[in-house]
Amino acid sequence: MRKPLVVGNWKMYKTITEAVNYVDQIKGALPTPEKVEVEIAVPTLFLQSLVERTATSPLKIAAENCFYHDEGAFTGETSPVALRQLGVKHVILGHSERRRLFYETDEVVNQKVHAALNAGICPILCVDETMKRGQSHGQVAWMVSQVIAGLKGVNEDEMARVTIAYEPSWAIGSGKVAATPSEANEGCYLIRQTIAALYNDQIANRIRVLYGGSVNETNLVDLMARSDIDGVLIGRASLDPTNFLKLVSIVSASE
Ligand code: PEP
Repeated sequence: MRKPLVVGNWKMYKTITEAVNYVDQIKGALPTPEKVEVEIAVPTLFLQSLVERTATSPLKIAAENCFYHDEGAFTGETSPVALRQLGVKHVILGHSERRRLFYETDEVVNQKVHAALNAGICPILCVDETMKRGQSHGQVAWMVSQVIAGLKGVNEDEMARVTIAYEPSWAIGSGKVAATPSEANEGCYLIRQTIAALYNDQIANRIRVLYGGSVNETNLVDLMARSDIDGVLIGRASLDPTNFLKLVSIVSASE
């Protein structure tokens, strides 16, 4: 049985005051972590103070990115070792915005996955589809190739700490055009099949695969009812604390 994981992705939104108020508002109102794990990925600048504020809460704070070296002359980058020292457990890697706007290749994403694992951080590896499957040839192969390339050299033991997020960029950010639950489930299923082929059935059955892309109150019940969706990555709809709590409670109530 895979425990659901909900990850809010704030991107580059909020001031530090808004961030602190948000976390203070929700940190005591979450379901127990036995039912659902809840994290918010926040801008690097907010990590330290939010990790401190949530030390005794089920709410965990994740990073939105890290670099692939532990230290060195890399102006502006964030060390995975420093994240670990802060108490950060998860880092989002390979988000479609990083791939598209910051030209992160599969090789770079793979280096980051290794650096995170070596530092003791759990990567959430995002893989993209830019168009609906069936509307354009090659989308499945491209999505699968991001899974294969992102996990290159990751061993079976390390796979226990990896989460994958199926995040079709055609569904991200609109708040309206989400994948249908069956499209989302099929994407997550294809990822699980790829893991089975790369590793084995046991690892494929154990790994959590999340869906991300315009998740909201209306589509979440149906998404969580699907067999291969183990949780969600939520951008826009995670920005309002009341709304985020509502989404967490929907996941918590799902079987
Ligand atoms: C995201 O950017 O990871 C995301 C899922 O965004 P949204 O929920 O806004 O589509």
